[in-house]
Amino acid sequence: MPGNGSTEWVVVHELAHMWWGDAVTVSDWDHVWLSEGFASYAEAQWYESSGGASTLQTYMQTMTGPFAGTIVDPPYVWDPIVYDKGAWILHMLRHIMGTFRSRTCSATTRRLTSTGTRSPPTS
Ligand SMILES: [Zn+2]
Repeated sequence: MPGNGSTEWVVVHELAHMWWGDAVTVSDWDHVWLSEGFASYAEAQWYESSGGASTLQTYMQTMTGPFAGTIVDPPYVWDPIVYDKGAWILHMLRHIMGTFRSRTCSATTRRLTSTGTRSPPTS
């Protein structure tokens, strides 16, 4: 890593996989977009947290697809569609549902800290 911040997105992406991909994982590769879409969107959220909404929008504009076709059962497991379209779908859902980052992260943090485990609560 060059040490000038130009590869922060890689660190963010891989750290996001500790949750999306490792702790919460897909049952088969057909749905790998969930892991990669969330990790890619985490990159954008990282830049939003450091630079604001305009930085989020600028970063999202770097995710240029491809977008044609389905992201479920992609032609290639690591096809760019699972990263970029996955992130855009989450961005769209965020605007439909409201900011889920804080809700999801807060709920996850509460669950992890209250149970000391990655398992979902049984009640
Ligand atoms: Zn990834």
